[in-house]
Amino acid sequence: MAVSGVEEAVTCAHDPLEALSSDVILAHLRRLLMVEPGRASSRGLKLHVALGIHPRAIPPDHGRVLEELPGLLKNPSVVAVGEIGLDSGSEIEKRVFVEQLQMADELGFPVIVHTPRTGKPEVTPRIVDLIGENIDEDRAVVEHVNMDVLPDLIETECILGLTVQPEKLTPSEAVDILREYGTERFVLNSDMSSAPSDPLSVPRTVHRMRMEGFGRREIRRVSRENIKDILKI
Ligand SMILES: [Zn+2]
Repeated sequence: MAVSGVEEAVTCAHDPLEALSSDVILAHLRRLLMVEPGRASSRGLKLHVALGIHPRAIPPDHGRVLEELPGLLKNPSVVAVGEIGLDSGSEIEKRVFVEQLQMADELGFPVIVHTPRTGKPEVTPRIVDLIGENIDEDRAVVEHVNMDVLPDLIETECILGLTVQPEKLTPSEAVDILREYGTERFVLNSDMSSAPSDPLSVPRTVHRMRMEGFGRREIRRVSRENIKDILKI
């Protein structure tokens, strides 16, 4: 990534292991803080961290993670609470999402919010409602948006994440969205994870934008400035 011109990145909590207990999730969060920034920095990449309980990784004793989270969020690498959100949209997901939205609001953190792969048109409006009830919309990055949900999301104040990843958006689909909706409210990301991912997907999309005549300012906005503004980095 650094070779391709990426200078800084944000890594989020996700679901790398089955959430059998809070110990699994806490070990994941501690690794994000203690290991990953140094690993990235040794390769020339400044790494920021978002911490939270991902909706697909809610352990039965999640209360213990929620208790320890405020202490972990004090680490200087932390820039946001995330990924949090809904996946299936179950009651337990909603409770854990709301608790984390309120925690972020109280502690002054922005949130990075997951939307599901299946059921996106049904679940996303519930996610947006819960954001609006618990934190200022302009403190939320709503991730993995696509054409199915954009007409509604563009009416909100949320920042919208275009995930350029083999099973989500191609660079060309992301560019189509930016042409239709403008660059003001969007951020590009690769969502590098255990799902098939491309570490060069943001540089590829930037390259495609350049080829299709987007200006320097528009490109910087979606690849750098919008996310730096909301995360205050
Ligand atoms: Zn996600």
